[in-house]
Amino acid sequence: MSNEQVTAGKAVGIHFTLKLCDGKVVDSSEGQDPMLYLHGQGNIVPGLEEQLDGKAVGDKINADVDPEQGYGIRNEAGMTEVPRTDFPDDVKFVKGMKFVFEVEGGEVAPGWVVDFTDETVMIDLNHPLAGEHLHFEVEICSVRDATQEELKHGHPHGAGGHEH
Ligand code: ZN
Repeated sequence: MSNEQVTAGKAVGIHFTLKLCDGKVVDSSEGQDPMLYLHGQGNIVPGLEEQLDGKAVGDKINADVDPEQGYGIRNEAGMTEVPRTDFPDDVKFVKGMKFVFEVEGGEVAPGWVVDFTDETVMIDLNHPLAGEHLHFEVEICSVRDATQEELKHGHPHGAGGHEH
């Protein structure tokens, strides 16, 4: 039975609904395959990963996650204005669009478009859910050993996981 328990190195399939404090649903696996993630690899927010640890197939949990253990605290210094010319000419900007930027030290970080004009694009390096308390309703649908390849990649493959 231990094979059905959520521990590091397992590929875990979950159905989930993510709500904010006001009850607004911001993400859900409803109507799709269960989301597959690799336990212990930071594929999901730390606060949820911790609360799923040791659970088993069929378990249903409600996990409340603080911002610190979720998508982080909002950092107002994360707002930055980027010249339109730094982007390819053919980009059609939409609020909420995600880009990957090179930041100090040559590292890359995701950023989200919050506003734009013909000359500049306002980017927020905070995750859109930074600063939010997260309320997850989760059902554990499947647990299996991850393959060597999945462990090497740091994410699971197949339906609900990475397709490549
Ligand atoms: Zn892969």
